Order: sequence, then C-alpha cells, then structure tokens
Amino acid sequence: MIELLTYKEKWYGRDLAKIDTFFASSQLCNNCGYKNEKVRDLKVRKWECPKCKSVWDRDINVSLNILNEGLKIKTSAT
Ligand SMILES: [Zn+2]
Repeated sequence: MIELLTYKEKWYGRDLAKIDTFFASSQLCNNCGYKNEKVRDLKVRKWECPKCKSVWDRDINVSLNILNEGLKIKTSAT
C-alpha cells in the first residue's frame, strides 16, 4: 500500500494535468472497467461492482487505476 501511494505521488508530480483521470478512476472498476456512478459520492468507501462482482475499497481501486494509467503513459512515452 505504501508503494502504491509513493507511486501515486510521483505520478502526480510528473503530470498534474492528468488530475481529471484521478476523479474518473474512482468510479471505474479496476477489474472489468465498469463505471459505477454511485461511487462518485465520497461517502462510499467500499463497493461491489455490479458487473463482475469484485469488491473494492475506494482508495485501493483508485490507486490501482492510477497505477495502470501511469504505466500506460510510461509505455507510450518510450
Ligand atoms: Zn467490475
């Protein structure tokens, strides 16, 4: 978890313009990509994906989505 947070900080430092992705990421299931509009409410800490039934802690799901996004950017840049 600490590794993920460190990665997130580095990534933010590198490209602040991608902050929009952060907000979208909170709603996307990291497993199947389903967009769960209900998760937009910050009170939702844990949720189950209606499509693939994965259960997500909000912060972990966001971190994983950001990590994936960061890796995509890294891959396309090299
Ligand atoms: Zn899902």
